[in-house]
This record gives sequence, C-alpha cells and structure tokens, in this order.
Amino acid sequence: MSKSLQIHEESKKYTPGGVHTSIRNVDPFLVFTKGEGAYVYDADGKKYIDYQAAFGPFILGHNYPYVNNKVIEAIGRTDLYGVGCTDLEVELARKICTHVPSSEQVLFCNSGSEATYHAIRLSRAVTGRNKLIKFQGCYHGWHDYVARNMLSDWDMIGKRDPGSAGMMEEAIDNTLVCTFNDLEDVERTLRENKEQVAALIVEPIPHNIGCILPEPGFLQGLRDLCTQYGALLIFDEVITGFRHHIGGFQKVAGVTPDLTTMGKAMANGFPIAAVAGKREYMKRFNTEKGGDVWFAGTYNGHAVGTAASIATLEMMENEPVHEHIFRLGEKMRSGLRDIHDRLGVEAVVAGFGSVWTTYFMNFMPKNYTDLKQNNAELYVAYRRKLIEKGIFKMPMNIKRNHVSYSHTDEDIDTTLTITEAVLKELLQ
Ligand code: PLP
Repeated sequence: MSKSLQIHEESKKYTPGGVHTSIRNVDPFLVFTKGEGAYVYDADGKKYIDYQAAFGPFILGHNYPYVNNKVIEAIGRTDLYGVGCTDLEVELARKICTHVPSSEQVLFCNSGSEATYHAIRLSRAVTGRNKLIKFQGCYHGWHDYVARNMLSDWDMIGKRDPGSAGMMEEAIDNTLVCTFNDLEDVERTLRENKEQVAALIVEPIPHNIGCILPEPGFLQGLRDLCTQYGALLIFDEVITGFRHHIGGFQKVAGVTPDLTTMGKAMANGFPIAAVAGKREYMKRFNTEKGGDVWFAGTYNGHAVGTAASIATLEMMENEPVHEHIFRLGEKMRSGLRDIHDRLGVEAVVAGFGSVWTTYFMNFMPKNYTDLKQNNAELYVAYRRKLIEKGIFKMPMNIKRNHVSYSHTDEDIDTTLTITEAVLKELLQ
C-alpha cells in the first residue's frame, strides 16, 4: 500500500472520509507532503508538475519565498488584537481600492464563502428584498444562500437542486437559477420577480465548471439589467480576481459591479478573502458607526493573510507576473490544440490567461447544459493517466487547470509531450 493510502487509512479514523473538504476525497488518493514552485511531492516522494494549484490560489507558486518571507517578518512583530486595526490591514485595503474598479471600500474575512455571504446579506439590507439570482453551475461557497444548482446531475438542470441536506428551505427557494450567457432568461426572471430580487451573483468566468467565457456583451447586459430592475450586481471574483488582472476580471471586461468578492489568488495560498464595493453600500456594515449590517470575525485581518496578500499584490505590481502566466497559458492551449489536430481528437481547449481546460466535445460550450456533451469518462481517465505520469490535475470531470509564475517553458513542453503520449494511449 502506498504511503498516501496508509496516511488516508489513519486519517479516516479521526475524520469522516479522512479529508477536510468534500471533493478532496478523489481517486487516486494522494497525500502531498511538499510543495515548491510549480511542483508538488507526494508522501512516497513522487514529483508532479502541479496545475491544480489548490483550486487556484497559487498564482506565484507553492512555498513562494517572497511571500513566505513577508509573512514571517510580519508575524515576528504583530498578529491579532481584537480591537482597532493594523498597519497591514490599511496597506492592503489601500492597494485593493487602488486596483479594483468597484472597490471604493473593502472588508477582510477568511474565506470566499464568508465574502459571498456578507455581500448577499448586504444586498438584502440595501434593497429591502429577499431573492437572489445565480447561474447553473456556478459555485459561490458552501452556505445556504448559494449552495444550489452547482454541479447538478444533468436531469436536475432547471429543477430545484439543493447542494446539501440540512439547508434552510426558504434560502433554497429564494435563490433563483438562470442559464449563463442567456440574457433573456435573466430578463424574464427579473421581470417575473419584480422588486423582489436583491442581487445577482455571478462568476464573471464560471471557472467552477472549467472555463466558460462570457459572450461579448453578456456581463454588460447583466450590469444594465441589474440597474434597470434595482438589483445589486455582485461579481464573485474569488477565482478570477487577481489571477486574470490585478484589478480583477471586471477591469478586463470594463464592467463594474456594485459589490465584488475576492479570495484565492489574492494571497498565494494563505487564508484571506474580501468583500468590496461602493462606499454608499459598504457604509451599511456595522464596522462603521451607525451601520446596521453585522460584520465580524475573530480572525479577520490576521497578519498572516494580510501580509501574504500585500506581498502577492506587490509581486503583481513589480514583476511581469500576468505577462508570464498569460504567455504560458497560451502556449499550453495552442500546444494542446496542435496535439488534438495531429491525433484527430474530438476536443476543444477553453481558457483565459493562465487557466484552461480541455473539453472532449466538438463545440465550445457556453453554459452548463452544453457540458452534457463532454465525454466525462474520457475526461477523468485522461486526468488519472496524467497523474500517473507526474502531471497533477484534479481527477474530476470539468475541472480547470492553472499555471503559476513558477512554471517554466520547459514545464509546459514536458507536459505537452506527456499529454500527447497519454492521449495516444487512451485513444488507441
Ligand atoms: N466563490 C467562488 C467563485 C469559488 O470558486 C469559491 C471556492 O472555490 C468560493 C466562492 C468559496 O470560497 P472558499 O472555498 O474560500 O470558501
């Protein structure tokens, strides 16, 4: 039995399933014991080129010295006090408000789920309305407001699909589900629920189902519809924020939401998240005297997360981080397309910047329903074979891949060579 499996057996004694997040329980089960730059190492000492990036935070790479050193320096002098604010919080808030167009003010919390929860609660307070619109396939965290119609079984599309047992019935029913890239559907839903929709929350690129790009005009259309119907537009940039631009995907798209949630690449793997938006809304939080929307958290603004985030944003400000990861992302996508052409594989390579995914289907999907056409069996078999050969990608259907600032041209070349061999083997 591999060391990974032995550790898993031990872990299962103390923890249900032996893992601390549902979808970590995958096949093959791997326990990583070291991460460095673009590479991760399992308990048996095997090295992998990592494209999973822990679901996206690692924009610079694992164990990144510049970030680690800033964190160590910070916690050598400061940590957490439970009153007032720290110099690190102020510095980070200033940076975010400088770079992210919708961020006139920002508040820190610890996870993306907290951030989306706060943004939705704030939108209810601002509008005095209850309902929320989300899109089929998008993920915004584990809480009751948003945990429905995520990776739904195909026969549950368009139906009431709670993501968990134990959810509050009213919360499920107050969350309406639309089809991504379908403005008519959004318009109809807003019209049929006139003066009831507090907010529309959207991943500007739904990366939780790989990489579905918004069609030209779609995000602007959402902006216009929200304004017309008096609902707040929330961009959930937990994945896209900072990874696609230091100002978030909103900067790329030229569309400014009312509220933005951020996390993941914000701090290169250290825990911190944020909710930001227009001052006229943000002042409703009761961190401001007279505010009436509760906002709290023992660990909010901890020195570890704030120092890590400052360091990560400094890297983006001072080094060609995005230039590098975008170039390597494009090199990977075009290399994969060449391989598919050479081997006659029915596949499309979707992606933006440093993110990509290969869907085994014959057209570019524009929403979750289209992904029914993806050959899921091949998708998972392909990823498992890549893992066997030292390329780590999440061994699950419709998951995305990421490159970091630590990946090199050589890593991409190696990956493409191995990928071609794997596809030949699978398709022979
Ligand atoms: N929003 C998006 C777009 C996400 O991808 C995620 C997590 O994957 C979340 C929110 C929730 O973030 P967290 O896992 O930090 O709670």
